[in-house]
Amino acid sequence: MMQDIKNFETNLSADTVLDIKNLTFSYPNNAFLYKNFSLSVKKGELICLLGPSGSGKSTLFELICGNLEPNSGIISHKKLAQIYQDPYSSFHPAYSIISQIKDVTKRDLVQNEYLPLCKKLALNENLLYEKPHKLSGGELQRCSILRALLLKTELILADEPTSALDNITQLDILKHMLDMLKGCGILLITHDRVLAKWCADKVVRLEDL
Ligand code: ADP
Ligand code: MG
Repeated sequence: MMQDIKNFETNLSADTVLDIKNLTFSYPNNAFLYKNFSLSVKKGELICLLGPSGSGKSTLFELICGNLEPNSGIISHKKLAQIYQDPYSSFHPAYSIISQIKDVTKRDLVQNEYLPLCKKLALNENLLYEKPHKLSGGELQRCSILRALLLKTELILADEPTSALDNITQLDILKHMLDMLKGCGILLITHDRVLAKWCADKVVRLEDL
């Protein structure tokens, strides 16, 4: 779900949308996933967080969203939208996609606003009026990207946002997504080195920490 985050903006300079300082975290009785980890994302910048499965990528997202408490360190950020790795967990099963998108954007969306985005995402707009179980994983993932775009936040956190799409569609959707997000700061999680090299302004490797 999108996060309507507590306001941590006070320490941020105007062009910084995310700032992580000296973050240290471990799950209880587990080894540290990060020690004194720092990272910042500026407006218009795309940072890729690269690391193998289990290296703590999704955990870092939960920390940024405030769903987990760090052992130490400070995380500051502007308003964010999150695109989750698992498309089925990003929408409530009982409500239509469009009503859930309106819930988080907190405004009445006019078709002029979302139809062009649907087209770019190769998403049949009729699907927006359905409940999530009627959609495939790939379609839901595109709905989740659509929701993030319509939120118009300054920071986007995307955890393997195109993992449910096939390889060719993946690149195409990602290209459109990045194009539509120009001006935003993006933290993109991926395990795909080639993808990271292709799109990132900077790649941060979790395994090197
Ligand atoms: P990634 O997204 O890079 O695959 P995760 O952040 O999901 O990695 O997980 C990092 C490590 O933390 C893994 O070893 C995982 O098993 C462990 N982990 C994840 N969630 C929990 C939890 N709630 N309690 C304890 N360990 C966890
Ligand atoms: Mg993960």
